[in-house]
Amino acid sequence: MPELPEVETTLRGIQPHLAGQRIVEIIIRQPKLRWPVPHGLNQRLTGEKIESLSRRGKYLLLQTGAGTLILHLGMSGSLRLVDRKESAGKHDHFDIVLENGKALRLTDPRRFGALQFTRDDPAVHELIAHLGPEPLSNDFSATTLFAKSRGRKVAIKQFIMDSKVVVGVGNIYANESLFLAGINPKTAAGRISLARYERLVASIKQVLAKAITQGGTTLRDFVGGDGRPGYFAQALKVYGREGEPCSTCGNPIRQITQGQRSTYYCPRCQK
Ligand SMILES: [Zn+2]
Repeated sequence: MPELPEVETTLRGIQPHLAGQRIVEIIIRQPKLRWPVPHGLNQRLTGEKIESLSRRGKYLLLQTGAGTLILHLGMSGSLRLVDRKESAGKHDHFDIVLENGKALRLTDPRRFGALQFTRDDPAVHELIAHLGPEPLSNDFSATTLFAKSRGRKVAIKQFIMDSKVVVGVGNIYANESLFLAGINPKTAAGRISLARYERLVASIKQVLAKAITQGGTTLRDFVGGDGRPGYFAQALKVYGREGEPCSTCGNPIRQITQGQRSTYYCPRCQK
């Protein structure tokens, strides 16, 4: 699944090709995505200039004079810049055609991706309004996380993966951050001290920033902005390493299931 670093990499990949461009046409081949694609997008946005691109959580926002397009890659989606004449495949659901002869194309075999539109401030849109802070922003701090966690019995791993608490901490990054912070993923969020939250917040920021620098983790479905694979193998310390020796203490990495997701941790290093 494309996670925050992949979406950020996509944004950085497509931004230089889209910013300042006018939309010549929006071709919708499959309107039944995660939510129905709104009617009349082509009429509404043809001729509009893409003023800016940004990201909020895993949503990409393309701001025009008429309103903002909200894009999501879903479970298996990828965005690529193609020549507008390049013929579309079965899973190529929409093209945003630009005046420079390129098209931004969503390929998504599972159709959990999304294309939505709002004329209002996207910050108040129903998909975005309830999102927690961006993990790499100053709004995401140990003090706020500590305050939010008081009285919470939920396991710390599920707590940090809740997008109302903080956005973009997907399964891989939650596992790796908890290892780096030395926190057992099963510990109740409400029982963790401020000092340990300070280590955890620093670890989350470090892991995500590193993944963004490296262009995201290994994802077969992800394709970078120029149509080149946008991923690089990242050295993962615990994720996917069940039974392998811990890089710190040599004890075997253990795998359990939490909230239907795989958790990997070192029982000796993570208390
Ligand atoms: Zn260990």
